[in-house]
Amino acid sequence: MTRAAVLILLGPPGAGKGTQARMLEERFGLVQLSTGDLLRAAVAQGTPAGLAAKAVMDAGGLVSDDIVLAILKDRMAAPDTARGVILDGFPRTPGQAEALDALLAGQGQRIDAAISLDVDDAQMVARVSGRYTCADCGEGYHDQFKQPASAGTCDKCGGTAFKRRADDNAETVGARLTAYHAQTAPLIAYYDGRGVLRRVDGMAAIDAIADDLGSIVHEVTA
Ligand code: ADP
Ligand code: ADP
Ligand code: ZN
Repeated sequence: MTRAAVLILLGPPGAGKGTQARMLEERFGLVQLSTGDLLRAAVAQGTPAGLAAKAVMDAGGLVSDDIVLAILKDRMAAPDTARGVILDGFPRTPGQAEALDALLAGQGQRIDAAISLDVDDAQMVARVSGRYTCADCGEGYHDQFKQPASAGTCDKCGGTAFKRRADDNAETVGARLTAYHAQTAPLIAYYDGRGVLRRVDGMAAIDAIADDLGSIVHEVTA
């Protein structure tokens, strides 16, 4: 890779953005930047942004652009992002997309690819409902689709404690899906208009999707 890449992973809740972002980090040395993870950390720390975001996240809505942009800009200022970033779960509204364009322009950077992971609504519900992660290293697992090789032990770190997200429940999933279709799906056309949109079949197996994404990274950073 000759220069720092800026990649966006677009897709509904459960599309596999986090799973793929972590694999891209390992393979290409890129840095995953997940606004969901940053917001959950702010909630856990009880910061003012976290306190304001918690109720919205629990209800499955989108946190205000102001809060998300402040958190994102802060993270983008850290030196490790110079290696190239994978934006996971950001932008999620047209306002965030425009703010990102302005932020990157100010740094002489641009978006290399906005990759839409396409999954249907039924698969999204199944993915979110069975999701859990290692409490120690954050590795993602799924009740049906991705179990640890040895039951109850994390493949990556050997940890034995796992957790589930409070918002991965049947009541909240509908609201998150509605928010995705209303506010985030329009970004597919936005990035298509800028000539950076790539579409990947998110219904495929994890490794097949990783291959598709790897090809895109090679192509856009060659
Ligand atoms: P997102 O970050 O887009 O919300 P995740 O990466 O957390 O999605 O994936 C949601 C759940 O689906 C996780 O439990 C993950 O293990 C599982 N998963 C991810 N990609 C696939 C796939 N291609 N096929 C089946 N299950 C998957
Ligand atoms: P997923 O892709 O599985 O829905 P995330 O971890 O990306 O989950 O997001 C979890 C929640 O955090 C969202 O439902 C929303 O409330 C909030 N959130 C994350 N990223 C953003 C964003 N870019 N803009 C607004 N809200 C966000
Ligand atoms: Zn682990």
